[in-house]
Amino acid sequence: MRRIIAVFLFLFTSLVSHSQKECSQSIYNSRITAVASPVASTNAPVPVTASAEGIQVPVVVHILSNGKGAPVTDEQVQSQIDALNRDFNAQNADLANIPIYFKRVAARVGIRFVLAKVDPSGKPTTGIVRRETSIQTFTLDDRIKFRSKGGDDAWPRDHYLNIWVGPMLSAIHGYSSQPGSAPEIDGVVINSEVFGTLNKRGSYSKGRIAVHELGHWLGLKHIWGDNYCGDDDIDDTPQQKSYNRGCPSGNRVSCGSGSNGDMYMNFMDMTDDACMFMFTEGQKRKMLSVFAPGSPRAVLLNSGALLTDGKPIDPAWGQQTVAAPEKSLTVFPVPATRELRVDIHGPLDRNKRMVVYNMTGQVMMTVEAAKSQVQLDISSLKSGQYILKMENSSASAAAKFVKL
Ligand SMILES: [Zn+2]
Repeated sequence: MRRIIAVFLFLFTSLVSHSQKECSQSIYNSRITAVASPVASTNAPVPVTASAEGIQVPVVVHILSNGKGAPVTDEQVQSQIDALNRDFNAQNADLANIPIYFKRVAARVGIRFVLAKVDPSGKPTTGIVRRETSIQTFTLDDRIKFRSKGGDDAWPRDHYLNIWVGPMLSAIHGYSSQPGSAPEIDGVVINSEVFGTLNKRGSYSKGRIAVHELGHWLGLKHIWGDNYCGDDDIDDTPQQKSYNRGCPSGNRVSCGSGSNGDMYMNFMDMTDDACMFMFTEGQKRKMLSVFAPGSPRAVLLNSGALLTDGKPIDPAWGQQTVAAPEKSLTVFPVPATRELRVDIHGPLDRNKRMVVYNMTGQVMMTVEAAKSQVQLDISSLKSGQYILKMENSSASAAAKFVKL
């Protein structure tokens, strides 16, 4: 009987991870020591740009394929670009579904995404790069961003928004770097199964995983601030307890969200694609502020990626090699039952303190570890997903594991 229950639980957890929207942002962020960079306040002036329509962002899409699964076609890429432009310009028909009490804060962000016309050497391009890979599934370790690791190198981020699309662990739908991250990892990663609007994954077939991730790329936090009743630093989004999933209806009041309840139809919540359809004016100000003079994405306004004069954008392109970061924390097995083996590498090798969090951010265990390989007794944890984090003065890392 116990075995039957265990098998059932395993099936259940796999089903859950397939049917719920997942953004791996907070886990990814904890892996990255971001390069400090000034981010303008939300009151910064909005830049004047060359385009009468607003800000234009040139895009390169790197598609990694291992021959399995349906190929990502050019039409799918265009469908994703169209979906981004629809939602960032308030041209989505489902804006009509915004409840009356949130309508006054709904915003047209006014950013357009355009496939690049020239590559870094100045040659014409479709803005789509395809590369074969032997990697079965990419994870949060950013290998997808390095040719030497089975992925594809970023194009210069001063001229391009890099979007990587490839086979990912099914629990990872997407993640993004934040403004101010290192240039070689700057961009958005999307699981090819949920990319574009022509995919077969009904809950994610409106291209809104990428809309959400680009919100992060433009400096937005999750609407619940990644904390219990946390703050997203945006004035006109209600405080809410945690994320919402699926397709909620009616007022869902939580912590400080007030009588109107959570804004679960916001792109920065975790609801199904069909059930999220708005950014707010406050989120718009935040996103536009990253293009203000001196802010991390201001240089993109002078990108050469849409010019076709043949001038190289980066004369050294193709000659440099980009070093990939080493993975600093690995766990085994996945899923685990009673014991979890943790291998620690690199800068984390001293003063190790491990903390296990559940998916709502509660601390479940804290362990002081003296060796670079640690055996964790996890028999007291309930079945489910957990995050293991390690920190010392010079680095931090995290890994996700599943307890059966
Ligand atoms: Zn997210």
